[in-house]
Amino acid sequence: MTRIVHRTLNKRYPVAVGGEGVWIVDADGRRYIDASGGAAVSCLGHGHPDINAAMHAQIDKLAYAHTSFFTTEVAEELAETLAADAPDGIGHVYFVSGGSEAVEAALKMARQYFVEIGQPQRKHFIARRQSYHGNTLGALAVGGNAWRRRQFAPLLIDVEHVSPPYAYRDMQMGESPADYGQRLVAELSDTIARLGGENVIAFVAETVGGATSGALVPPVGYLKGVRELCDRHGILLILDEVMCGMGRTGTLHACEQEGVAPDLMTVAKGLGGGYQPIGAVLASGRIVDAFARGTGFFQHGHTYLGHAVACAAALAVQQVIRRDRLLDRVRVQGRALTERLVARFGQHPHVGDIRGRGLFQAIELVSDRASKQVFDPALKLHAKIKQAAMDLGLMCYPMGGTIDGRLGDHVLLAPPFIVSDDELDMIVERLGEAVDASIAGRPVR
Ligand code: PMP
Repeated sequence: MTRIVHRTLNKRYPVAVGGEGVWIVDADGRRYIDASGGAAVSCLGHGHPDINAAMHAQIDKLAYAHTSFFTTEVAEELAETLAADAPDGIGHVYFVSGGSEAVEAALKMARQYFVEIGQPQRKHFIARRQSYHGNTLGALAVGGNAWRRRQFAPLLIDVEHVSPPYAYRDMQMGESPADYGQRLVAELSDTIARLGGENVIAFVAETVGGATSGALVPPVGYLKGVRELCDRHGILLILDEVMCGMGRTGTLHACEQEGVAPDLMTVAKGLGGGYQPIGAVLASGRIVDAFARGTGFFQHGHTYLGHAVACAAALAVQQVIRRDRLLDRVRVQGRALTERLVARFGQHPHVGDIRGRGLFQAIELVSDRASKQVFDPALKLHAKIKQAAMDLGLMCYPMGGTIDGRLGDHVLLAPPFIVSDDELDMIVERLGEAVDASIAGRPVR
């Protein structure tokens, strides 16, 4: 077999050759249950006939037309679908090819907005530690994962990082979730005061933390407090829902459950369900109006914006979610997943926290439950769990811990919305065995 330049050069991967429903099949005929949707991508699972048919139909008509010459019916219809269900006031849609591109575009939209309205002195972004916003330089700069940033630090724009919501470790004894949320808002307020509110472009946050934090749900009232604070200083709120959005937490947008609408929102992953690479920025009317009155366009662009086949795939994914009432299903199966995780891991000596929302949940591992001590990072427990799970035919999303020396190894689960009860049983059973075997240092059974 030809060797490709893969992200881990000294590791060999199974060759994926097929997929159906929640299953992926490799070249040796082994079947893997996709409990993480890849990286919270495959919301409809694999090989969905309706999505495949929609892509074929679009390819037969027209695969691609550059957006500086044309728009396409399918891109317009997808934009209308997204705008119709967008949070209050953010019904303008800008298509890109993925999550990092969406974040880059949102950061630049926010900056251009202030230039257009005569506030060019605004040049600071504030974001959160333990966050992930993508791997391109702008997205990496707002991201708060010290390990990912380290090599590239001198190239990154200066971004202030504040504490993320992390109730398991940071909520104090006797403190209510609401008070904890207000404490976090106060920290953000202090940071804004230090920079000068009139100098800040935007606060950037994942509505529910994902890739480097493991399904961190905000405390009640936190995002409302953030929204009010941003409004007071004329600062834009950018919510990154690349991972937690498009239905994953049980509502189309995770921020709906917080009663908050951002000024800019990024989506990707579940938008196209992995059938095509696609992302989008949803922008508020006031930002788009400022562009229209000023420069006349958003000064940005990539070759594959609004790619017709990608839009056809995403439109079909969105139609199936609505037709099959899959958001209801996410809520029901989300509860079923929580029950199973609590039954298997609720008393587990090395599981400190079980958290998340909808079909977006995580367990955090600790060497000692009482002290919440993390496992020694040198053990690379997360990598062992990932391998053990693959040996058992389970795809899950374990991540290394100790960002800022605090977050433990954790495992994120984000199965397709179509996952059945039996499949949830299988996922939690296999995960339990992968975790136990990895901690015990024995092979899986
Ligand atoms: N933002 C968030 C919240 C993400 O989880 C990710 C990917 N894990 C990204 C941005 C980057 O998306 P992509 O990998 O498609 O560039």
